[in-house]
Amino acid sequence: MRIMSQEGNTKPLAGWAPQNWISLALMIVVGAIAMLSLYWGFQEYGQNNMETAFMYILIGVSGFAAIGFNFFKGSPVAKQQKSGPKNVEVVSTLECPQCNLKRVRAHQVGDFIFKSDEPCTRCDGSMVITRINARKDPKKKN
Ligand SMILES: [Zn+2]
Repeated sequence: MRIMSQEGNTKPLAGWAPQNWISLALMIVVGAIAMLSLYWGFQEYGQNNMETAFMYILIGVSGFAAIGFNFFKGSPVAKQQKSGPKNVEVVSTLECPQCNLKRVRAHQVGDFIFKSDEPCTRCDGSMVITRINARKDPKKKN
């Protein structure tokens, strides 16, 4: 029997964008269909309906291959994003609207542009965040 020998199951999955929850939902749906197909396939197999069984199993395996492919395709991107900012420091630029004092400090959680942040060290004004950007300087000088 050539039932378990499926090779070309790479076609239906091109063009998947490994993005956000839509692809996650897709993966879940495809996974469910693949699971069902496999289940049906083995049932048909048990009843000696080889052709139907082969079809279902092929669908099921393709589905899992699609999920695996999607996962595999998605993970290097996630890795890049995770390991990338390690030597990139995110900094917030603060400016005092009153005396134009400028200060750059490490980005803090909750920082956003135009947020009025810490008090100015030179006058009584409060400094406003004017810029949040990545700095490729591994050593920070705060
Ligand atoms: Zn000031």
